[in-house]
Amino acid sequence: MTVTHHPNLTTLIAFSAGTLDEPYAAVIATHLAMSEAGRKTVRQINTIGGALLSAEPDAAMADGALDRLLDAAGDEPLQTPPAPDHALPAPLASYLPGGLESVRWKWTGPGVAVADLPVQRRSPSRLMLLRVGAGRRVPEHSHGGHELTLIIKGAYKDRFGVFAAGDIADHDEDVEHQPIAEDGEDCICMVAVDAPLNFRSRLIRTLQPLFGM
Ligand code: ZN
Repeated sequence: MTVTHHPNLTTLIAFSAGTLDEPYAAVIATHLAMSEAGRKTVRQINTIGGALLSAEPDAAMADGALDRLLDAAGDEPLQTPPAPDHALPAPLASYLPGGLESVRWKWTGPGVAVADLPVQRRSPSRLMLLRVGAGRRVPEHSHGGHELTLIIKGAYKDRFGVFAAGDIADHDEDVEHQPIAEDGEDCICMVAVDAPLNFRSRLIRTLQPLFGM
C-alpha cells in the first residue's frame, strides 16, 4: 500500500501526546496501521518529545543531536504490524467486530451513505464511516471544524488529488472541496468530525437535518 497523503504534523503530535479526542485518535491509529511512513513519523515525534522532557531546562542541543535522534528513531522495529490487505486494520476492526458486511448504512443522498461508529467515552466529536458509490460525488462543502478522513477502500479525487487506501485528508474549516469517488469500486472512508459540514447548496443545507451529516 502506497500512502501519499499524510496527517498534519500538529495532528500527529496531538495523537502522540494523547490529547486527541477518541474519534480522531481512532482515525490516526487506523492510518498508522496502514502506513509505515506514518509510524516512522510518530516514532520520531515520541523520541524528540522524550528527549525534550528529559533534557535539562536550560541545556542547548548539541550540533547534530536532532539528526541523530531522528536516525535512531527510524531504526527502531515496528510497533504496529501492518494489516494484511484482506483484513480491516485492527483499530477500525475493534469498532466493527462483524466487519464491513455488518455495517448498517444510512442513506444520506444519491450514492452517499454514512454509519456512526460507537465511541466509548463521552465525546464532543463523531466517528463514522462514509460510503460514496463508485463515480458518485459528495456535495461541495466546507467544514465547521476539523474533518479527518482516512480512506479504507476504493479512492476519491478532489482538488487536492487522488486519495486511496491508507491516505489521510486532514482539513480544517478553511478548506472547501467536493470529493468524487473513482470509478470501479465504492469508496469507504473513516471520518472524524467535530461540527456539521457546511454544504454550498441551499437545498442540501435545508435537507441536512434529515441526512444526519
Ligand atoms: Zn470534507
